[in-house]
Amino acid sequence: MKVNYHMHTMRCHHAWGKDEDYVQSAIKAGFDEIGFSDHSCWIHDEGCHMRMRVDELEEYLASVLTLKEKYRDKISIRVGLECEFYAEYLPWLKALLASQPIDYILLGNHFYKNDRGFYFGHATDEKWKLEAYVKQGIQAMETGLYAYYAHPDLIPFTGDEAYYEKMMTQMCEKAKETKTPLEFNLLGYVDGRHYPYPPFWQIASRVGCQAIIGVDAHDPAALLNEKAMQEGRAYLKSLGMEIVDHIRFLK
Ligand SMILES: [Zn+2]
Ligand SMILES: [Zn+2]
Repeated sequence: MKVNYHMHTMRCHHAWGKDEDYVQSAIKAGFDEIGFSDHSCWIHDEGCHMRMRVDELEEYLASVLTLKEKYRDKISIRVGLECEFYAEYLPWLKALLASQPIDYILLGNHFYKNDRGFYFGHATDEKWKLEAYVKQGIQAMETGLYAYYAHPDLIPFTGDEAYYEKMMTQMCEKAKETKTPLEFNLLGYVDGRHYPYPPFWQIASRVGCQAIIGVDAHDPAALLNEKAMQEGRAYLKSLGMEIVDHIRFLK
């Protein structure tokens, strides 16, 4: 099965192309199943510029469900969201997931505590930031809500390597225990970002975690990059990792 559960839409303000263009690219690329996972809105709606607003959610879901129906003979389409783990908003998130036709959510652990908290993707040598990242990731996985952990190696820690290994081992052990696949993020790979981070993947493979490849498409053309997908698979296989092509759905 060729699958990809990590795709965005224009609603997050940093992705391009119509929703339908993503579907058509995915069909062209031979995907069997895809899922939209745009950056989730949050109840507080404080003007974060990288996610949809609460009042856009309904239209987002309707758009994806319309495409699901329209292309049902050509491709299977799922509807999801890429969500942070904000402990204080967890009740709101659970209510949202229970009341809306949402198949799954991905963990996108970008910010500490809320959208005003610091961004985990900036280089840091401060141990407490690494600890905060790992703790938040572990708490998220313990909820059992998240289908997988998107770019789990987002934090570029420039401090003590042994400490990085210790903390990430804890996070990977929780991923294994909760059967949460870790995403090899193709956007980061193709862009030459600081993730996927090889030392992280060494740890994940040693712990025995499952891996999944996510295109993290912010542009329909990203789905056509078969070369990157093959390279990602080859890399994970070279580490002896199990690559999964299915995720758990909420209902
Ligand atoms: Zn994004
Ligand atoms: Zn994403």
